[in-house]
Amino acid sequence: MITLTGINKSYTTGANSLHVLKGIDLHIEEGEFVSIMGSSGSGKSTLLNILGILDSYDTGSYTLDDHVIGKLSETKAAAYRNKLIGFVFQSFNLISFKNAMENVALPLYYQKVNRKKRNDLAMEYLDKMGLADWAHHLPSELSGGQKQRIAIARALISQPKVILADEPTGALDTQTSYEVMEILKQVNQSGITILIVTHEHDIAAMTNRIVRLRDGVIAENIVNGQVKEYAKRAFAAQQII
Ligand code: ADP
Ligand code: MG
Repeated sequence: MITLTGINKSYTTGANSLHVLKGIDLHIEEGEFVSIMGSSGSGKSTLLNILGILDSYDTGSYTLDDHVIGKLSETKAAAYRNKLIGFVFQSFNLISFKNAMENVALPLYYQKVNRKKRNDLAMEYLDKMGLADWAHHLPSELSGGQKQRIAIARALISQPKVILADEPTGALDTQTSYEVMEILKQVNQSGITILIVTHEHDIAAMTNRIVRLRDGVIAENIVNGQVKEYAKRAFAAQQII
C-alpha cells in the first residue's frame, strides 16, 4: 500500500538547513495498523505529512496504492488525497460553525456531490459512530470523544484506502482514548490501512506494529507478537519512545 525508499527531507529557514528525515525506508502492506512513535522533534509529523501528500520530500521515492507520488501540482496532490487518504488530527479540525452532519459531509461537498446525497451519507456514517442523535449539534456542544468520532466519520466518508492520524488521542482522557482506538480498530478490520502517530505506549500497544523514529531515522520496527511486550517494557522503563 505504501512504499518509501530513501526519503530525505530538510527544512531551510534563512541560512539554516535542518535535515529532518534521513533516508527513510518503510513498507506498509494493505490492511496494516501501524503506530509511529518517537520523541518530540524526531520527524513523526514530517513523515506523516509526506505520506499525506501535504508536504514534499527532497530525495527518494514514494508509492501509494501503486501511484508514484513525486513532485505534484497542488491540484493533482489534492486529487490523490481526496481519493486515497482520510486524515484525523489531535485537535479534531472540525469547522466550528457547521454542525456534525455538515462536518462529516464536507469532503463530498468538495467532490461536488449534491446536498441531499452527501447529507444522507453523512447520517449513515454518523450512525455508524453512534452519533446520529448529535447530527445537528455544533462542535462546541460535543465532548472531545464525540468530536474525534465525527472527525473519523469525516475521514471515512470518501472511502479512503488509508487513514493517517497525528496523535488522534492526544487531547483525550484515557477512557475516551481507548474508545477512539476501539473505533479505529474496527475501521482497520474493515480493510482500511491505518497509521497513527502517538506518544503513548498503551495506545501504540493497541496497533499491530510500532515504527520508532529517532533523529530522522527508523530506529526500531516492532511487529505483531512483540508489540504489546515492547510497549509494556518501554513503559516500565519510562523510556521515552
Ligand atoms: P515530531 O512530530 O516528531 O515532533 P516534526 O516532524 O514536527 O517532529 O519536526 C521535526 C523537526 O523539524 C523539528 O526540529 C521541527 O522544529 C522541524 N520542523 C518541522 N516543521 C518545520 C517547518 N515547516 N519549518 C522548519 N522546521 C520545521
Ligand atoms: Mg508532531
